[in-house]
Amino acid sequence: MKQAENLEPASQPPRPSFGILALVKRVFSGIQPTGDLHIGNYLGAMVNYVALGERLGRDAIYCIVDYHAPTNPAAYDKHLLAQRTFEAALLNIAAGLDPDKVILFVQSHVPEHTELAWVFTTQTPYGDLTRMTQFKDKAAKLESVPAGLLMYPVLMAADILIYKADTVPVGDDQTQHLELAREIARRWNLEYGETFPEPQIYLNPNAPRVPGVDGKAKMSKSVGNTIGLLEDEASIWAKIRTMPDDPARIRLSDPGDPERSVVFKFLSYFAPAELVQVLREEYARRGIGTLVVKELLMQEMMKTLRPIRQRAEGLRAEPARVLDALEDGARRARAIARATLEEVREKFGLLPL
Ligand code: ATP
Repeated sequence: MKQAENLEPASQPPRPSFGILALVKRVFSGIQPTGDLHIGNYLGAMVNYVALGERLGRDAIYCIVDYHAPTNPAAYDKHLLAQRTFEAALLNIAAGLDPDKVILFVQSHVPEHTELAWVFTTQTPYGDLTRMTQFKDKAAKLESVPAGLLMYPVLMAADILIYKADTVPVGDDQTQHLELAREIARRWNLEYGETFPEPQIYLNPNAPRVPGVDGKAKMSKSVGNTIGLLEDEASIWAKIRTMPDDPARIRLSDPGDPERSVVFKFLSYFAPAELVQVLREEYARRGIGTLVVKELLMQEMMKTLRPIRQRAEGLRAEPARVLDALEDGARRARAIARATLEEVREKFGLLPL
């Protein structure tokens, strides 16, 4: 452990690399206000929002997609929606997004999204929607399935295409929805003339899909296997302490395989690569118990989370800063959305106003 103690810890998780992004002109992404944002949202999406925002300025367009939340009754509460929308915006700013540089706004403040979604709904085959795996998974857990849950990916396509965004930073759970958005753009362009780029997905190569603390495939609010960005430290530690280890390692004297340990997966998100490497070697040669790795994971993770919490606290004391930023964002977004919708209305054959 001597070597590990001498290493310089990183205060930020690794930044994504942008090789293929040299040609990107505009990005769009949305995040649902369905509860406390978690480190899966942060690593899979928000880290990219910040980095892309620094490169693209006002061509980085981010939205709190409040009209998506009620599509899943399990994650929607009319008494909490407004507060959660505000919190989601606040947390993105606290995580490093600069609303003076990018466009950050609330979906329902730009009603053009839902108008375009209706136009796309009329053009999208029902079968394309019923085969979406997220729809099937979520619908299977509900007694009564709202039609909005089926239409969710159509609204998502409208969110992206109304800005003619060519790139969408999301986690890999959104791959199928994005493929459908590409299909909707392709079909529209064929029928009504070239209008929309076919947007490509952009994943964080370091964390395309963050697993749950239970070791299950995806950290997700609906499964309840998350670590919240604002979660109490004692509660986070309780989750880390009970995280599953390499199932083949029963005693400290058994060699462990870091590839089979979710603890090492999380460590790779937050700790410097050199430290992770040293710990992997120690773990594999039985030199270290999982509890020590978990303690280091807690330490390294908190180095990323603490500054976000401090900034969030500061912003909470000045809510007008967040609300003003959202108002300005909606004004800027709406100007772009209106122009696209005018073009769509004309090509679609509607009687002009
Ligand atoms: P739910 O928990 O109900 O599945 P969610 O946490 O996925 O909801 P969204 O608003 O759909 O909430 O996700 C916001 C962004 O975070 C999306 O880009 C999504 O792909 C990304 N994301 C969510 N969970 C993860 C994860 N475990 N790993 C990587 N990215 C994720």
